[in-house]
Amino acid sequence: MVPALELRGLTKRYDDAFLALDGVDLAVRDGEFFGLLGPNGAGKTTLISAVCNLIRVTDGEARVFGHPHDALAARGLVGLAEQDVNLDRFLDVEETLLYHGGYYGMERAHARRRAGEMIDVFDLRAKASTRAPKLSGGMRRRLLLARALMHEPRLVILDEPTAGVDFELRLELWRYIRRLHETGTTILLTTHYLEEAEELCEEIALIRRGRIIARDSAAGLRAAYDAASLADVYVKAMAA
Ligand code: ATP
Repeated sequence: MVPALELRGLTKRYDDAFLALDGVDLAVRDGEFFGLLGPNGAGKTTLISAVCNLIRVTDGEARVFGHPHDALAARGLVGLAEQDVNLDRFLDVEETLLYHGGYYGMERAHARRRAGEMIDVFDLRAKASTRAPKLSGGMRRRLLLARALMHEPRLVILDEPTAGVDFELRLELWRYIRRLHETGTTILLTTHYLEEAEELCEEIALIRRGRIIARDSAAGLRAAYDAASLADVYVKAMAA
């Protein structure tokens, strides 16, 4: 089966000559729940930005379901919820979703239907006509996720979706993400909550200074590092 994501020698050198990705090889299977873990500055967001064609890579290649990452076909297959809550302040909830649908070429009636579904799934019905600045932080996070899913992507990339959210919303977001995975969507998640990764992810890659230093299931990593928990693995791997 064609992998959902395949990276070969992916390299990114920023203008100041800093090597943020150093020849990354990685494959994520279709339907997999995959976690990418590493300390601040390890290269996670750079990797995601490269896959989503938001930055130009220096070398190597990225394929999304077999398509070159910068091809239109690949872009329609990926949904991204970025770390920053980058919502347009002049659009209300429904407009945010409809604009996104339009950007991805969804036919109008279809986009309306799908926006309605997303509004219900993410419990935003009462706020459908409210602009982003007047939403609570948790509602903005939910809208961010709804927007990422609007065009029914087969690969959903979530860059720290639960950063700074309270305990209840974190559980709620986990529920949404789990359900999404159960419908066959491939998920690439970055998080600093190791217990979250341990619970959700089928496969985990550890990245440090732009290189993948380990990749396995949580159980496989625990065995390889002779560690009791993923947190323990992480500490050992990053210190090595
Ligand atoms: P975090 O967990 O803090 O989000 P990260 O793993 O996502 O970290 P990146 O944002 O990918 O890390 O950053 C990797 C490295 O690349 C860092 O040293 C960062 O300073 C550098 N970097 C990121 N964006 C740029 C840029 N536009 N120009 C120059 N350097 C950059």
